[in-house]
Amino acid sequence: MLYTNHEVRIRFSDEVSLTRAWLDDDPVRAQRVLANYHGTHPVCTCVPRGVQMHIVRRGGAFYLATMPGRAHHHALSCPYHIPHPSTDASLHYADAALSRASGLVRLSVYPDPLKHPPFPHFSFSAALEYLWQLAGLNIFMPDMTPRPGLSVAAHTLQSISDRIRINDRHFIPHFPPAPRADRRFTHVIGVIRSLSLTRYGYRVALAGDGEKCTYWINEATWRRCQLFSVPTLFADPLPARYVIMARLWRSPKGFWNLFDPGLLEVNPQMLPVTEHTRSLVNELTQAKRKFFVVPQLDSSHHPATLPAAVLLDTDQPAPLYARVGLPAVSRVRAVASD
Ligand SMILES: [Zn+2]
Repeated sequence: MLYTNHEVRIRFSDEVSLTRAWLDDDPVRAQRVLANYHGTHPVCTCVPRGVQMHIVRRGGAFYLATMPGRAHHHALSCPYHIPHPSTDASLHYADAALSRASGLVRLSVYPDPLKHPPFPHFSFSAALEYLWQLAGLNIFMPDMTPRPGLSVAAHTLQSISDRIRINDRHFIPHFPPAPRADRRFTHVIGVIRSLSLTRYGYRVALAGDGEKCTYWINEATWRRCQLFSVPTLFADPLPARYVIMARLWRSPKGFWNLFDPGLLEVNPQMLPVTEHTRSLVNELTQAKRKFFVVPQLDSSHHPATLPAAVLLDTDQPAPLYARVGLPAVSRVRAVASD
């Protein structure tokens, strides 16, 4: 799923469906098509069940437009997607932390402790989570094919990486297998296979097609990032899936060293989860026909007022909170009965 997917098809009638790219290619041709279908409701197929749109006429020209209150129903990757306040993570960050201008996404990322929103910068883990969101990996759609995975994130992030700046530097991501020494990468992103403490620091093995890809993190770096609070990381086998993103540096001796690591726990569908939201998110993925987004939440700085998930196949986004005490199943049914 690309962040902006211009190949998404618009269905004008049972026989006619055209891509956004095709319409953009030739404005005269597009005007002819839109005039022809004026008064009908074309369907954007960015999500499996489709999103109804309409054609408006302004100043003699025809435009394809989202229906009122439906812009957030489009996939994050769709050109017609407009975030709703309840699902828009950027609202929790100050302008200095996150800016989007001139086609660039700029993130400020530092380890200093955060207190409450608006956050002046991202933590390393929150930055990873924001990139996850850019890759569309926080939206769950039933019937999603291909199933989301690290390869989807890799493909999307690589295709938009030239538009991302982290602390004013280009973002050049690498995904395991092991990086090639002659290539310049700034960050590595991978799923942790194992983690162990040795006399040389932490040895991190990342999943990469069975290839051996070992990275090193020194103890001081690890402590600075306050990642010690995740004891389960040292279990064998790991009880959950963790994605790690870190700055990459190759030592003169040829070791791949990692700095500024951020962690993201994900469920088998690669959706971000935390200790508090895990059961609700897992339950939603198992419930049939649920279409929802997991808003960005860095588990260590997440205000309790943010929803754990937001249902999107409702007239207005329906926030779900991971409250304790009430069985999650009845909560989901109550909000999403359809
Ligand atoms: Zn769409």
